[in-house]
Amino acid sequence: MKALTIIGGGLAGSEAAWQAAERGVHVRLYEMRPQVETGAHTSPDLAELVCSNSLGSNLPDRAPGVLKNELRRLGSLLMRCADQTAVPAGGALAVDREKFSRRVTAALEAHPRVEIVRKEATAIPDGPAVIASGPLTSARLSDAIAELTGREHLYFFDAIAPIVTLDSINFDIAFRGSRYGRGEQMAGDYINCPLNREEYYAFVEALRTAERIELKSFELQLEQGVKAGAHTFFEGCLPVEVLAQRGVDTLAFGPLRPVGLADPRTGRRPYAVVQLRQDDLAGTLYNLVGFQTNLKFPEQRRVFRMIPGLENAEFARYGQMHRNTFIFSPALLRPTLQFRGRDALFFAGQITGVEGYAGNIATGLLAGWNAARLLSGQQPLTLPRETMLGALCYYVTHASAADFQPMKANFGILPSLDEKVKRGRRGKRQRMLAYANRATASLDRFMQLVAEK
Ligand SMILES: Cc1cc2nc3c(=O)[nH]c(=O)nc-3n(C[C@H](O)[C@H](O)[C@H](O)COP(=O)(O)OP(=O)(O)OC[C@H]3O[C@@H](n4cnc5c(N)ncnc54)[C@H](O)[C@@H]3O)c2cc1C
Repeated sequence: MKALTIIGGGLAGSEAAWQAAERGVHVRLYEMRPQVETGAHTSPDLAELVCSNSLGSNLPDRAPGVLKNELRRLGSLLMRCADQTAVPAGGALAVDREKFSRRVTAALEAHPRVEIVRKEATAIPDGPAVIASGPLTSARLSDAIAELTGREHLYFFDAIAPIVTLDSINFDIAFRGSRYGRGEQMAGDYINCPLNREEYYAFVEALRTAERIELKSFELQLEQGVKAGAHTFFEGCLPVEVLAQRGVDTLAFGPLRPVGLADPRTGRRPYAVVQLRQDDLAGTLYNLVGFQTNLKFPEQRRVFRMIPGLENAEFARYGQMHRNTFIFSPALLRPTLQFRGRDALFFAGQITGVEGYAGNIATGLLAGWNAARLLSGQQPLTLPRETMLGALCYYVTHASAADFQPMKANFGILPSLDEKVKRGRRGKRQRMLAYANRATASLDRFMQLVAEK
């Protein structure tokens, strides 16, 4: 069997290496640390957790919990190491970060088919390869990736706006409509939350004074505006709180401008309007347009719930702006994580547009598994969309160009439950459980089919 090159010994690359090696492939894993630093990692260990030591909820009926159970079911090395090094964290899976990455490093160092090369990779390998160099991919490799993908398809910052669930929006206040009635849907493409003068100024003041996540030295550019996506809107993309800081009326003339909209309750134009747009692939999720932000998550909850109509908003994802190297996967990758036009080249981890530790481990797992299948003459696998991993891979390879931004595990990206199940499961807990059970059953069926073949 041929050898596989993996670039990046982080979460995705380490998992990919293990999966491929366990299936008989000789793996050459390139990790540039400690010779070349990323600015965020602090050790030479593989699979270092760069920030929080929590991998998110471990509860079986929560989206991150579903993903973790899929990883366990699929034999993930990193999930095993995480379980073995867990520290008390309520319903979440938090780990002793040093023990965790040392365990992963030791397992890979001891594997007879894994060769770890401590060197920066500066080119895309010609042969079979997985690129898992992460959000802080080195500059020279970024150049090589840009050459492969086209410069317009490689981004260096994300600009994630918060997403709320449709059923948590208060339609006694919010209304559907598009500016000047130009939407594609009868009722309008947007959900609009109107603010009067007092509400607007109170909101701007709260935004300006809310606590922010501290920027790292390699992220200071965010204060000036960065290119953070395919859409021209993102050319000079700034956090919403920075816009608010520039002047009290900046937002009222920017993303909150009310022109072309009338509040059906009064028949008049509101002082300002927050618009929410449906995520293309997930009909129950709406993102706050222009609200990319670096506020701390509890602050986002507090401040964005001041928006009339969002008093009880449930956040499926909080906003953030990060230094983040990622490719425009909808045009470049298949759900198998293969690069279109080069079957033996895979991408995995944050660079695909999947967000979060567990999601990055999971895409590494699939890329390593699929690379091994390809090298042994089998077809790479596409996981069912009902599974969380299948849904993540589908999302990043099918999301719309207009607002493609990294996505983490959540129930909104799964196909809807069928109406009968929905009606029978009224409560939110019940619905989450139904999604989780369906994902488990779907993965079981899939694994059985793969085993039979
Ligand atoms: C500052 C920061 C904080 C984050 N905090 C969190 C958090 O708290 N929770 C969360 O869920 N997610 C967080 N993320 C997002 C993401 O989940 C992590 O970055 C995650 O580690 C990504 O996994 P990965 O395998 O794609 O990349 P990484 O784990 O970063 O692995 C990539 C590896 O590739 C190596 N590398 C890069 N270029 C080369 C090259 N040319 N040659 C050889 N090796 C190379 C790097 O040294 C690194 O070890 C954060 C991201 C950043 C940037």
